[in-house]
Amino acid sequence: MSNAPGESGPPNPTNPTIPGPKIDGIEITQGIQYYKSDMHLTDPSDQKNDNSVMLVASKPAWVRVYVSDFSGSGGITVTGELIVERNSQIPPIWKRVDDVMGPLPSETISVSSVFDYATVRSDISSTLNFIIPQRYLSYNLRLRANIWQVDGGNKNNPDATYSSPLFFVMLRQTLRLRGIMISYSGIDPNSGPPPTTMNLDAPTTEDLQTTAAWTLTANPVQSQGSFSSAGTMDWSTPLTGIATAPGGCSTEWINLTAAVAQVKTNDGNRTDVIYFGLLPIGTPIQNVGGCALNGVSIGLNRDQVTMAHEIGHAAGLQHAPCNVPGDTNYPAYEPYDVKDTPNASLGEYGLDINNGNIHLPSAKDYMGYCFPQEWISLYHQKKLTDNKNFGREQLELSVSPIPGLPDPFVWPEYFQDPSSEEPNPGDIKIKPQNIISIIGIYNKNGQIEIQSIMRIFTLPKITGAVETSFEARLLGSKEEILSKGPLMRLETFGHECDCEKEKNSKNSEGPFAFQVIMPDVESGNSLNIVDTLTGNDGGQIVNEIWTRSATKSPPKIGSFSVEVSRDKGLAKWEGEFSSPYGIKFSLQFSKDKGRSWNSLAVELEKNEHQFNINEIPVGDLVFRLLVHDGFLTSYKDTQTVIPKHPPIISILNPNDSQKLISGRPMRLYAIINTATTPNLKTINFHIWQIDGRQVGDGGEGLTNDPLETWVAAPGTGDHECTLIIGYEDGKSIVTSKFTTIDYNR
Ligand SMILES: [Zn+2]
Repeated sequence: MSNAPGESGPPNPTNPTIPGPKIDGIEITQGIQYYKSDMHLTDPSDQKNDNSVMLVASKPAWVRVYVSDFSGSGGITVTGELIVERNSQIPPIWKRVDDVMGPLPSETISVSSVFDYATVRSDISSTLNFIIPQRYLSYNLRLRANIWQVDGGNKNNPDATYSSPLFFVMLRQTLRLRGIMISYSGIDPNSGPPPTTMNLDAPTTEDLQTTAAWTLTANPVQSQGSFSSAGTMDWSTPLTGIATAPGGCSTEWINLTAAVAQVKTNDGNRTDVIYFGLLPIGTPIQNVGGCALNGVSIGLNRDQVTMAHEIGHAAGLQHAPCNVPGDTNYPAYEPYDVKDTPNASLGEYGLDINNGNIHLPSAKDYMGYCFPQEWISLYHQKKLTDNKNFGREQLELSVSPIPGLPDPFVWPEYFQDPSSEEPNPGDIKIKPQNIISIIGIYNKNGQIEIQSIMRIFTLPKITGAVETSFEARLLGSKEEILSKGPLMRLETFGHECDCEKEKNSKNSEGPFAFQVIMPDVESGNSLNIVDTLTGNDGGQIVNEIWTRSATKSPPKIGSFSVEVSRDKGLAKWEGEFSSPYGIKFSLQFSKDKGRSWNSLAVELEKNEHQFNINEIPVGDLVFRLLVHDGFLTSYKDTQTVIPKHPPIISILNPNDSQKLISGRPMRLYAIINTATTPNLKTINFHIWQIDGRQVGDGGEGLTNDPLETWVAAPGTGDHECTLIIGYEDGKSIVTSKFTTIDYNR
C-alpha cells in the first residue's frame, strides 16, 4: 500500500504562446514528505518519488503548490485554488469535496525568476498553501490546482493547471492511550533541611489528551485519539536516586515499575492500548523520562515531546543515534550527515500542520538525545506507519462513513469471552482468567521483597518482561505443586542504556522488579519462589529463595457501597481485615456486567476512597472492591448509577507548548472525548474565540470528529483561546493560552 508516487503530466499553460507562471509540482504533507528529493539529498538511495511518504486517514494535510516564472520579468504575484475530488466506492465515482479551496493566508505569493530549492522549500511563504481538513483525508483523493496572476490574471482562464496523481489514503491509525494517573505526596528533595512534604494531585484524562497534542500532530495517526484513565495510584518517593548500574535505573524507578504493574493487572493487562503513567507537574524527578519501564511509558503532565518519545518506545522505536546509542539501521542523510555517520537527522523537510512551521532536514528526530528533539524523521515516520501499536486499520471502499472508535472501557473482542469457545481455530485470542499475581523486587542482595499478591480476573499476560531462572509455585498441604508460573523480570532500563542485547537475556542479577502470573486453581497451603539451576551432574537443583504460608481465612467483607454527590464518588467498606502480611484494597468497575473490568485505584490502605466521576462512564456501573491479605483475595460488588457529566474536552492547538507566528495560519483543534459520555453523539454548536472575539466557523457536528478550523494567528503577544460547545442539555467551555511572535528567521 502506498500513495501512487511519481509525476503526473506536465503543467499545461492554457496559452503556450505567452510565457507565464507555471506550477512545478505539489507537495501533500501531514508532517514530513519527499518533494524533488534529488535536489537536496545527495545519496541516491535516500532519494524517493514525490509524495511517497504514505498519508494516513483522518488527519489533515497541507498542500503546497510550487510555482515558478520563466518569463524572466520576475516579481509577479499569483494566487490560486485547489479542487479536491474523492472516491469512496467501487466502481469509482469521483465527487468534489466541499467548495473549491482558497489558499491560506497570505493568499498570494510573489514568484521570483531565480529558483533556489532550499529557500523555497524551507518557508511556507514561498508556496501557495492549502489545507485539506481531516474529514476529507480518506479513501482515494485526486487534486487539481489552478493559478493565475493577481494583476491581469483571470480565475476562469488560469495561467496554469496541475493535476495530481491519485492518492490512496486507506490506512487509519489511532493513538490509544490509557493513563495511569499518579499523585505525589512525599518529600520535596529541594527543600529544607528539614525537608518539607509536597502534595500534588493526580493528572486527569484532560491532561492526558492535552499532553498528547504534539504526539498526535507529529506522528502518522488520525486527529482523534482514544483516551481513557486506568485510575489513580499514589506515589511518595522522589524519583531522584542514582542508577544501580550503568544504563540501569535507580531503586525508586524500579519500585515505581512494580507499582505500575499492579495498576495494569488491576486493569486487565490490556494489549490494545498504550499505558502511560502521567506524573503531576512538579514531581521530584532527576531526569525526565529517566527510565523505560515494562510496557508502560511514563512522563510529566504537559511534557509533550517526552510523551511522544516514550510512546515511540512503546510503539517499538529505538533511539535515533545522537548523543545516545541507537537504532543501527537509522540512515545517514547526506549532505546533512557525514556518509555512514547517522546523526538523527530528519532527512526531509518537515511541516507542522498546526501552523506551517518548517523543520529542516538537518533538524533532529525526537527519538534522539540531541536537542531540540525537533520533529519526526523520515525513518521513524515509516516505522510508525502500519504499526500495530497504533491500532492500524485498512479502510474499505464502499464502507463509508469510517466507523468510530471502540469503547475504551470495554475489553476488546480478542479478550475472548470466557463463556465462549474460540470461534475460528487459529485466531489469536487470549482469555482473561483467574490468576494469582505476585509483584515485587529482587534486590541486589538476592532477596525477594514482595509488594503485592493479588488473586484477580485478568489477561494472563505480562508485556515488556523477560523470563528468569526463577519460578513461583502454589503448593498444597503435601507440598505438591498446584500451580506455577515463571518469574518475569520487568524491564527497567536507563535511557542512555544500549540495552537491545540485554533486553532478551535471561539475566537474573538484581535489582529488578518482577511479576509472576499463574493460574488461580485453589487456595493452597503456601507460595514459594525457587531458583532452578542445573547441577554439575546435569541434574536439576531447586533452591527455595522465598516462601509464604497461607493466611488462616480469606478477608471477610461486611459492607461495600459507592455513593455519588456532585462530581465526586465515594467508595466505603467495612469488614474483618487482618493479616500478618498487611491488607491492601483495590477498586475496579465494569460497565458490561462484569465481562470487562477497569482499574479505579490500587494499593489503598484506608477503608474509603474518593474519586472523580468525570473520569468514568455515566450509567449503571458495577464496582468491585478487592481485599488482598497477602495470600488470598476477597471481593464484593455493588451497583451504582453514575449521573450525567460533561465529556472530556481538550484544546490541542493552540496551547502553551509552542510560540506561533503572527499572521501565519493557525489551526484551532480540539477533541471531544465521549468515552465517558457514550450517549452524547452530536453537538448543537461550537464557537471558537480568540481573546473573546469569535473566529473561524462553528456549527453542529458529531462528537466523534475532532473540531478543527484554520485562522490567521493574531498579533504578537499573549492570547487566550476559548471553545464553547453546546449540547442538547448543557454546554462546556474550555480555554487555552498561547503566545504569538513576529516572523524572524
Ligand atoms: Zn528513550
